[in-house]
Amino acid sequence: MFHSFVEDASDSLRHHCGVVGISSDQEIDIPELLFYGLFSLQHRGQESAGLAYHRQGRIKSYRSVGMVTSALSHYLTDEHPCRVGIGHVRYSTQGANKLANAQPIVVSCSKGEIALAHNGNISNSRELQKKLVDEGSIFQSTSDTELLLHLIARSRQPTFREALIECLGLIEGAYCFLLVHDEKLYAVRDPHGFRPLVVGVREGQVLVASETCALDMFQARDIREVAPGEMLTVQGTRIGSEMLPLPKPARRAHCIFELIYFARPDSTVYARSVHMARKRMGEMLARSDEVKADIVIAVPDSGNSAALGYSAASGTPLEQGLTRNHYMGRTFIQPTVAMRESGVRMKLHPIREAIFGKRVIVVDDSLVRGTTARQIVRLLREAGAREVHLRLSSPPIRYPCFYGIDIPTREELISNRLDPAGIAREIDADSVRFLSLDLLRECVTGPENYCHACFSGTYPVPVREAR
Ligand code: SF4
Repeated sequence: MFHSFVEDASDSLRHHCGVVGISSDQEIDIPELLFYGLFSLQHRGQESAGLAYHRQGRIKSYRSVGMVTSALSHYLTDEHPCRVGIGHVRYSTQGANKLANAQPIVVSCSKGEIALAHNGNISNSRELQKKLVDEGSIFQSTSDTELLLHLIARSRQPTFREALIECLGLIEGAYCFLLVHDEKLYAVRDPHGFRPLVVGVREGQVLVASETCALDMFQARDIREVAPGEMLTVQGTRIGSEMLPLPKPARRAHCIFELIYFARPDSTVYARSVHMARKRMGEMLARSDEVKADIVIAVPDSGNSAALGYSAASGTPLEQGLTRNHYMGRTFIQPTVAMRESGVRMKLHPIREAIFGKRVIVVDDSLVRGTTARQIVRLLREAGAREVHLRLSSPPIRYPCFYGIDIPTREELISNRLDPAGIAREIDADSVRFLSLDLLRECVTGPENYCHACFSGTYPVPVREAR
C-alpha cells in the first residue's frame, strides 16, 4: 500500500494519527523540536499537523492542514521558548479535510487550560457524546477526541489529574492521549495497548511519541513502551507513573497492522523490530508457497521488508522491479477519471530490463479493494513480465476496524467478494496468495496479546456502533 492522492482516495488503509510530546527542565524552543518529531511520524498522518505548548502561563497552539513542513514551517521562523509541548499529525476520517478536526485541541475550562492530542478511536463515543449533547454540551468538531475534554470539564473531581483519571474510566476503545496542563505533560495509553506509545530521555528532556523512530531522531536513550493502562505525569525531567484503576483486568490487544504496515520499518513496536517482523512475514509466506518464479520484487516501500524475507526463504533472487516516485506526496486535488487511471503510473515505475521475460513474484503488505493491485499487475505485464504472482504478507481483510483505522465497508473489500483465485482473475494476476492468520500470529511474540479483528472478525473490545 502506498500513499498518493489516487490511492488515498481509493485503495489504502489510513492511520488516524501520530503524537509526540516533549518536557524540558529548561526553557528551549519546544515547538521546533516537536516539528522534527512530527516529521518522523509523517507516515502516520498527512492531512494536518499541529502543536501546542505552555508559555508564560498560557497554552498556545498552532494547527494547519497539509504535511508537517508546509503546515508548520512558517510558524517556526520565530522562537517559542518554553518547557512543555505536544504535537500531532492526522488523517481526516470524516471525509472533509477540516481544520476544525486538526489537533492538538486546546480548551479553557473549570480545570484550567488543557491541550490534548489523541491517537486512536473511542469506541463508545457516540453514546457518551449523545448524553453530553442531551445535557447541553456543544461540540466544536466531529472528532471523538473532544469528548474527553468535555468529560474533564464537567467532572466534579477537585484536580485536573483526578478528573482525567475519572474520565478515562468512562471511555472505551483505543487511545493514546498526550495532554498539557499547568506546565506538565500527561501521557496515557489505553489498558488494551491498541496503539504504540513510547517514552525516552535525553539530556534535560523527556520525550514521548507514537513510535521509536521519532525518539531515535533525538538520540533518546532508556526508551521503553508506556505500558497499557499506564499514565505518565512529566514535569521537567521528573517522570511520575501510575496505573489507571480498572474494574477488571483488560486483555492486551495490540494492533497487529502496526507491524504489517503502519509503523515505520526502523521503529520498534510492541518490543519487536518492525522490519524484522515484516521480514519474517515474508519468510512464512514463502514457506507456504509452491510457485516457481525467476525474481521476487517488492511494491515499494510497503512490501520491501517482506519481499526480502520471501526471497531469502524461497531462494528466488530479489530484484528491484519497481521504483517509487517519493516526490508525489499528498495533494488535495480531486483527480479526474483520466488521472485516476494513470495514478499508479505517476507513483510507481517498472524497470523494464529487470522484468522483461521473467516470471515475477510481487510482494505487498495487504489488499484492500484491489484497484491498485490491478494497475500494478498491468504495469508489470506492459514491462514484459511473463507471469505475475501477487503475494500479500497479511491475511485477507474482511472486517471493519473500530479502533482507529479507516477500513472501507465490507462490500468494498475485495476479499469479501472473491477467493484468491477470483481475485487473481479480477486483477489479471497469474495467482494471488495471502499469509494465513495462523502463520501471521507465528511472526509475533505472545500472539494472544494482539488484535486481528480486521482479518478474523473477533473484536477484543465490544463494538457498540454498527457500521
Ligand atoms: S481491527 Fe485490524 S487495524 Fe483495527 S486495531 Fe485490530 S488489527 Fe488493527
